[in-house]
Order: sequence, then structure tokens, then C-alpha cells
Amino acid sequence: MCIMNFKRLEHTLGKLNTFSKQGQGINRLAYTDEERQATQYIIDLCEKEGMEVNVDTVGNVIARRKGTNSALPAVACGSHIDSVYEAGKYDGTVGVVAALEVIRSLNDDNIRTEHPIEMIVFACEESARFGFSTLGSKAMAGLLKKEDITNLKDKQGISIQREFSKYGLNVNEIKEAERSKEVFKVFLELHIEQGPVLEKEGKQIGIVTGIAGPTRFKLQIQGQASHSGSTPMNYRKDAFLGAAEIALTLEEAAQSEASRGTVATVGVCDVNPGAMNIVPGMVEMGIDIRGISIESREVVIKELYHAMQRIEKQRELKMSIIKLNDEAPVKMDENMIDSIKETCEQYGNTYTLMPSGAGHDVMNMAQLSPSVLFFIPSRNGLSHNPEEYTSLEHIAMGAFLLKEEILKHAKVSQKLVR
Ligand SMILES: [Zn+2]
Repeated sequence: MCIMNFKRLEHTLGKLNTFSKQGQGINRLAYTDEERQATQYIIDLCEKEGMEVNVDTVGNVIARRKGTNSALPAVACGSHIDSVYEAGKYDGTVGVVAALEVIRSLNDDNIRTEHPIEMIVFACEESARFGFSTLGSKAMAGLLKKEDITNLKDKQGISIQREFSKYGLNVNEIKEAERSKEVFKVFLELHIEQGPVLEKEGKQIGIVTGIAGPTRFKLQIQGQASHSGSTPMNYRKDAFLGAAEIALTLEEAAQSEASRGTVATVGVCDVNPGAMNIVPGMVEMGIDIRGISIESREVVIKELYHAMQRIEKQRELKMSIIKLNDEAPVKMDENMIDSIKETCEQYGNTYTLMPSGAGHDVMNMAQLSPSVLFFIPSRNGLSHNPEEYTSLEHIAMGAFLLKEEILKHAKVSQKLVR
């Protein structure tokens, strides 16, 4: 069952996606004219709905619909509208357009709530331009320091400081974007899945239990470069074969932890000197291990260390590893998860509980208030790709669930008769 306005959702999403730089797919990178124009478009629509709109010092948009009791904390929702290069039309935008549709539909029905409702459009969620992700929500949650971003530049060498001043924002006033726990009752984010699970399992809604935190390593494997023709197989110290064994060990270790949602990836493998007639002498690998259970992640990391020792001996290689970062997973609020489950059951929507392998603004908002993230399906699991697609039916279903959850938390105080 869904009573959202399909046409209005479609039109707003379509119009929002006209704000894009020319090229393949959507190009609406953080702190560019296209992104700031799209932001202004959303601001105008929010004001038209009678919301009070503020833009903070890092560019987050905070649109507020008054509650009947202004002393109560806000029920907040939101997502982002900046994109990666050659992006699709749905990542982030769906959460923003659906939130706006919730407000519009409450206005259509003259529904007032006790708690104020906030719709937040977070700035710079994607790391595509400046190599720094969820900047806006980090600033809001007090997780951002000025030094973290002052030296950031994009690949054209344009500094984030320059872009901030161009759009009337201020790197020196990051602290002013911070908000306190008291102002929020809950936070909800609706997002496309960006993976294949919902489609493969034939489910409509993915309720996220936790957001995986990545641990990343750089592993250097030192062997011996030698002639590929004149070095017999048993006299080789092939660094790449050691790397291959490491990669397969990681696959096996993560597969045995699959039930706890842990995944491991070797996304970088530089083979040196990198010629067809030389046995590889040195390999550098980039390893990403992530999951929502720290214990499970540790099991895979331990396997990695064991494999290193074993392969070093067997293949006479030298390995050195550096931990690049280690982020803690973020759990979603159990009561809010249960609440979405109930709503899905009430309206006959199929759902599954799942971890989110990707980071989202909600993980920072979870530091401020009980928070939850839920997904709608992505066709073929594709995202960060012009082929990204989520049906209007699923978007409307997501918007409807968002509305129901917001109403539960914000409490209907009166329905005015026209
Ligand atoms: Zn996103």
C-alpha cells in the first residue's frame, strides 16, 4: 500500500537531476555550481512548503517544519545530493526527494505533529572530489576538525577553502555547524541499496542493522626480480604469487565470516617492476576488510597475519604491513529497526535485515541521536554508475515508510479539517 504522490516525486527527482555538469551520467560534485544550484532548488521547494530553512557554515541545509510544541526535539531525516563523477540519478537524491515528499504530503493532509520535523541535505557526502566523505554530517556531529580539511584540494588543484568562500561558507567556522544531542529525537535516512541483495532475495526493503567500519592495510611483499626465461620455477621468489595466496586466503577467511557480514577486498595490487619478462620482485597491495562486527573483522585480520607468516617462509619472501585506518562499525538503533519492521509487516512490505557495507551520513548522525537507515532496491545492484536505477514504485514505497516512521516519532497532534 502506498499513497504517495508518484507524479510529484518523479517530477522533483527529474528536475533535481537536471543540475549536472555535462558528461556521462550525473556530475554534481560537492561544492560546485551544479551542486549549489541543486541545493538552492531544494531550499526553494522547502520554503514553498512553509519550512524554515538554514544553511550552516559547511553548507548543510536544515529545513524545519514546526511542531505544535516547539520545546520538543526534532524528528530528523535526510540524505545528500552531491554525486561522484559519472554517477547515477538515485544515490542520495532519493532520500532527499522522499523526505520532501513526506513534508508535502503532511501539508496536503493538514497534519500537524507535536515534534518539529527536520529535513537535512548534507553537504559533501561523497569523497569523489576532495577525497573526504560525509563532511557535512561529520561537522554536524562534531567529528570534524578544521585541520582535517584545510589542505584538501581536488584533482584540478582547487582548494576546498576557495570553494567554501566562493559559496559563502567558512572553514574557520566549522564548529558552528555542530549541533547538540538535545535537538534531535531520532534521525532516519532512506537510501538506495547500492548492492544486489534486495533484488537477489526478492525483498522490497532492507533494514540496516549496522554500518561496516573498514580496516585498511598496505602490504608490501618483497621477493626477487629475475629473468622470466632463465630462472627455473623452484628457484624463484615471486612476490606476486605470494600476493595471490594472500588474496585467496582473505577470500576464504571472509567467506567463513559471511554470516556475520564481514567482507575482504584486495583492490590494489601493484606488481613491480611490471614487465612480462621479469619474475615480480615486489608487490604492493591495498587491503580493505570491513564488517559490522569488530570480533568477526578481527578473525579475518588474524588469518591475514597467519597467512603472511606462512607464505613468507614457504616462498622466501619478506612482507611488511601498515595499518592505514581502522574505523569502528556503527550500530543502528534497535527500537527504530523494530519499528520499521512493524510498519513493513503492517503494510505487507517484504524486508530483510542487512549490514551496510558503504558509509552514509547516518553513521555520523548516530553519534547525536538514535538513528536508522533503510534501503530500497538498486537494479542489478549497480550504483556510482550512470546505469543506476531504482523504480518509482520503490521510491514511493520508501517515502511512504519514511512518512509512517516520522509520524510515529513526531506524533500527530491534530489533523485540521479544511
Ligand atoms: Zn549516497
